[in-house]
Amino acid sequence: MDLKAHIRKVPDFPKPGILFYDISTLLMHPAAWRHTVEALGAAIRPHEPDLLVGIESRGFLTAAPLALHLGLGFIMVRKKGKLPGATTSYTYDLEYGTDTLEIQADAVKPGQRVVVLDDLLATGGTMRATVDLLRKQDAKVSGVGCVIELSFLGGRKLLDVPVASLVSYD
Ligand code: 5GP
Repeated sequence: MDLKAHIRKVPDFPKPGILFYDISTLLMHPAAWRHTVEALGAAIRPHEPDLLVGIESRGFLTAAPLALHLGLGFIMVRKKGKLPGATTSYTYDLEYGTDTLEIQADAVKPGQRVVVLDDLLATGGTMRATVDLLRKQDAKVSGVGCVIELSFLGGRKLLDVPVASLVSYD
């Protein structure tokens, strides 16, 4: 299936000069979305995850149906202050300033194998920070996956685990 045909490109979003790859149109097409979830499942299954992790917020849309499809639990990684109870946090540098991601402290047991999902890999900073956060909790990150990879930004170079992506833009 031609997934690119279901991904809308929106110029000048969220800022002038940025071309945004919009998965809303993919989500609205059940056959294309089912194909996406099944293909990502086939791509990450070899990493033998015990759990899947989704990055707020479009990573939730990607990881949650995939977790159900593979019969695995699903964990949320969220922006600071959104998760109840004890959390582990990780602060990382952005181009201007910093950002903080959090996970519930009891979400992963030491040594559990996790695969992290997001809708899109751009510079790789968000994915890298999530991998670092999970390692802080002694999780074993066996791979990461995304629907779309902006290969021209070289995000996978920041990652020291296998990266699965379904659609790549050069
Ligand atoms: P990175 O940290 O790799 O530079 O950016 C990836 C993160 O930003 C992901 O969480 C992703 O959802 C979001 N993102 C950045 N650019 C786009 C885009 O063009 N389309 C979509 N859907 N998400 C984007």
